[in-house]
Amino acid sequence: MDYINPFRDSEMCSALSKEIKKFGREVRFMEVCGTHTMAIHRYGLKSLLPENIRLLSGPGCPVCVTSSMDIDRMIACTHAGIVATFGDMLRVPGTFSSLEKEKAKGADVRVVYSPMDAVEIARKTAKNVIFLGVGFETTAPSVAQAIKSSPENFMVYPMHKLVPPALKKLLEGKNRIDGFLLPGHVCTVTGTKGYEFLKGKIPCVVSGFEPADILASILMLVKQIEEGKADIEIEYGRSVKREGNQKAMETMYEVYEPSGALWRGLGYIESSGLSIRKEFGSKDASALIKEEFESEEREGCRCGEVLQGLVEPVDCPLFSRVCTPLEPIGPCMVSSEGTCAAYYKYGGYA
Ligand code: SF4
Repeated sequence: MDYINPFRDSEMCSALSKEIKKFGREVRFMEVCGTHTMAIHRYGLKSLLPENIRLLSGPGCPVCVTSSMDIDRMIACTHAGIVATFGDMLRVPGTFSSLEKEKAKGADVRVVYSPMDAVEIARKTAKNVIFLGVGFETTAPSVAQAIKSSPENFMVYPMHKLVPPALKKLLEGKNRIDGFLLPGHVCTVTGTKGYEFLKGKIPCVVSGFEPADILASILMLVKQIEEGKADIEIEYGRSVKREGNQKAMETMYEVYEPSGALWRGLGYIESSGLSIRKEFGSKDASALIKEEFESEEREGCRCGEVLQGLVEPVDCPLFSRVCTPLEPIGPCMVSSEGTCAAYYKYGGYA
């Protein structure tokens, strides 16, 4: 089966757009995932929607929701050994510095493409190798597997976050959200059971990432509203099953357990992060950081509000004037999945 081209078919997209335009009510749908945000901007999907349907970007970019405190602590990890990270984290500013700046000053910070690359580095050195465990349920199982199969000098600084508790917090907040486009990659791993607390409260559709996927998902949300339903539906059926990937989830929970976590924009949320279990305690790099940090967000940066869909990047006075992908002030401009980066890249600013 061709999993891409049929979902990019322009006639199908036009037909879906025509159906969506029959809906007359003012609604606000949030795309939770940063990959959706990028796809919506890359394919110009907002231009295929009527004005009464507004899309809000959510907290689904893992780099963007990492707090300044965690970035400051990650930078402190450079004093304890080799730091291995996905490239997006490199340029995210903490309170006083970034991993990129520390690397320029001589810290051993290496970009890797998977946690197993970091394990390979550990196998070739006697130094500690600290992998920065950033990401949602999509990446946590592979990091857990790396922990299980790594030499003694491999450690992880755990910053993984879980999506469902963040959605619960968003619904309790001041933003009006009429439907969620749920994250397709995360739900491929978790399935949809963890989202069932949303049933009866708000329409939800797990969406794929091609333009026809996203438009079809919006149409499904619209139909739920028309029919007075608040269900969890799956549009991305070619990847997502209700039960998810059991093996991946078992591996994740063998190594990690839920714990409270600090989110940029959303604050502290109970059971929204993952800590390394006691049995794997020797792998937990957070135990190496003894310093206390007076961490602060960058002055004037509105990432916290962008991540809750309260403002758009263009509402930030720094957007494109002071803050650009080359000179980013906040993580939403750094990350390849960041909302500010999407507006900049596809909004005629690049
Ligand atoms: S444009 Fe820059 S400063 Fe403004 S919210 Fe986005 S990342 Fe922060």
